[in-house]
Amino acid sequence: MKLNIKCPKCDEDIELLVNDDELKNALAIQTHRPGEINSIVVIPTWRCELGCPYCKYKQQLDGKSIEYLSNLYQVEKELTPDEWIKLLNSYSPAVFDFTGGEPLLYPGIVQVLNSLPLWTITSNTLYLPPGIDYSRCKSWTASFHPHISTELRGKFLENTYKISSQSIPLNINLVLTPKTFDSVLSWADSFNSSTNVTVNVLPYYDDKDFSWYKYPGLVERMNRNPHVRYEEKLFEYKGLEGNGYCKGGQHYFVLGPDGKAFRCLTDLHTGKQPISGLVNSTCNDRCMFPCDWGYGGRKLN
Ligand code: SF4
Ligand code: SF4
Repeated sequence: MKLNIKCPKCDEDIELLVNDDELKNALAIQTHRPGEINSIVVIPTWRCELGCPYCKYKQQLDGKSIEYLSNLYQVEKELTPDEWIKLLNSYSPAVFDFTGGEPLLYPGIVQVLNSLPLWTITSNTLYLPPGIDYSRCKSWTASFHPHISTELRGKFLENTYKISSQSIPLNINLVLTPKTFDSVLSWADSFNSSTNVTVNVLPYYDDKDFSWYKYPGLVERMNRNPHVRYEEKLFEYKGLEGNGYCKGGQHYFVLGPDGKAFRCLTDLHTGKQPISGLVNSTCNDRCMFPCDWGYGGRKLN
């Protein structure tokens, strides 16, 4: 459905294709600033069946809600594939970065991906639905979880080989905890021997009571390991201070499974309101999510 609204900031006429208030606001940003949105993070579903002990999102059984540090984010419904296609194609030519939950568990994901000019994805890569047009994939991040069965490890290796053999840049991410320390670093070394693969080891940090500084010997080893990312920024749960220019809501934003738009991942997970209208480019909040830092939400130094 086509709608004509005024930009909330300057009264300019904008034509929209959807009928939900949050979607209207999100679209207003892109329509008003053509070319300024570089990336849109898309979470088509919270579903994931893997139940990793260190998962920061405590998926609820209904698949439509998550809990993060006692904040519950709930959606009444997931958008249908047709709704996603209509919505996302209104934002082109942004790059669409799919994550979750496990995005490949969203029914209709192939239809949605194949409708977009360019996308990236973060997935546990245990199941590749047939029919994906990989020529539109800009990069693939495969999260490896060592606790999975031998059979699933075989699937992971088979699927990541399939992806990298199509010349798609492949990142393999692993979460490091004190309990899994040696095995994760050993897996990281084994993946690193493959060509065209970047291995990223991400220290666990999503717990206000946890600190790597309780394990000085491990901190020392992390500081020396070439795969460990973000260094001391992930050594305890504190985030980065916000105090200035941020690209969240300006050059990128985040869409939840119901299509609601958030300024950044930190906002979505810490119980902030969806964005409404054009947002300010300064932020004084604590910025918790490394993915936001990667998008330019907060300067890393
Ligand atoms: S695969 Fe990812 S989303 Fe699923 S439980 Fe594990 S960490 Fe969480
Ligand atoms: S919380 Fe971080 S990413 Fe979000 S708007 Fe603030 S500085 Fe930007």
